[in-house]
Amino acid sequence: MARRRILILMSNTGSGHRASALALRAELKRAFDRQVRVSIIDLLSDYLPPPLRYAPNAYPFLSQDAPWMWKSLWQLDMRIAAPAMRTAARAARHSVLRTLQAYNPDLIISVHPLVQHLVAAASRQRFPSIPFVTVVTDLGGIHPLWFHRSVTRCYVPNDDAYQLACRSGLLPGQVRNYGLPIRPGFGDRLHQRMAIRRELGLLPEEQAVLLMGNGVKRARVIKTARSIARGLGAGGEGRGQLVIICGRNERLVAELSAISWPAPTRILGFVEEMATWMQACDCMVTKAGPGTIAEAMASGLPLILNGYIPGQEAGNVTYVVEQGAGRYLVDPNEAAHQVTRWFTHEQAEMELMAQRALTLARPHATRDIVADLGALLDMRAYSPALLADDSLSASR
Ligand code: UDP
Repeated sequence: MARRRILILMSNTGSGHRASALALRAELKRAFDRQVRVSIIDLLSDYLPPPLRYAPNAYPFLSQDAPWMWKSLWQLDMRIAAPAMRTAARAARHSVLRTLQAYNPDLIISVHPLVQHLVAAASRQRFPSIPFVTVVTDLGGIHPLWFHRSVTRCYVPNDDAYQLACRSGLLPGQVRNYGLPIRPGFGDRLHQRMAIRRELGLLPEEQAVLLMGNGVKRARVIKTARSIARGLGAGGEGRGQLVIICGRNERLVAELSAISWPAPTRILGFVEEMATWMQACDCMVTKAGPGTIAEAMASGLPLILNGYIPGQEAGNVTYVVEQGAGRYLVDPNEAAHQVTRWFTHEQAEMELMAQRALTLARPHATRDIVADLGALLDMRAYSPALLADDSLSASR
């Protein structure tokens, strides 16, 4: 049988859409191997005509330097947002059609809230019989633009999102609630922290805090890191080590590397093996990115959220705090003091939050979504592991 061509449409606004797209591709290949050919493209930046293709470039500035402006855009009433998207879709129509014809897909997957609006009309017109699905990659603050009535399926991360999808006009039969897709490995080796620390060259016996530097202003990351290291180093109230992952922020790596640290500190740029670094640590300080939160929950990591992008990430803060899986502490010193307390006399609270995180985790989301996609394409799972798990997914 000819390979099924699967086209995943995303945009590099934040790393979360890309991480979910990679997770889906890895699982599709694992489950269906040579039956599928999976392409991931940045539809917005690489395939739309100017000026539409420049819109994603504004996202880092708006979300980090002008959050109030981003918030007003995000809060635009759907009576304005929906017609604006229809206008953009008309302007993008030829480019979208050309792209779809070039890839000639058997299945289209969107992992970005704007994509379905750009693609729906074109795919209905030229590819009316192929499935077109949305995978929602936000957690707490899900924008109604995610929900387009013409999709074959919409995969959502939790019950609230399921309700919102139905209120936005999707039929219950269109919506599947499997969780936010994360890459493989996050739920693995949960009880081997010391061994993993040794493998990574960390001190096996010392507790470790993971501080994420991506998506937070450089000065705040440095201040938080200094404060944590003071608390955990000689003369501080606690003991422990610090891992700082800066993502693609090379300037942050350089500035942190020039500091002399009072506690053992590892500074890293972009890492592919986030699962391993999460497994090596006891807690995490991060902004409220949905992908990172879902990964941390699967890894049983209690969270200190130290910021959020207004709009789509505000709901993530409420979700984590209300569910008892972490705290929201923006001030660098307060965040650092909480780490020290968790590593000393509030250890019980940290462990309780780790348990809560594991309870909320949906580590099989990617596998369940891919099993359902396979059914849409009438494909048999190639992977014996997936076949063995079929009964699990079916009973859900
Ligand atoms: N990430 C990664 N390596 C890094 C830094 C981040 O793989 O060095 C991943 C992280 O694990 C998560 C994604 O980047 O999957 C960030 O997505 P999230 O939804 O948390 O935030 P966004 O960047 O989309 O705002």
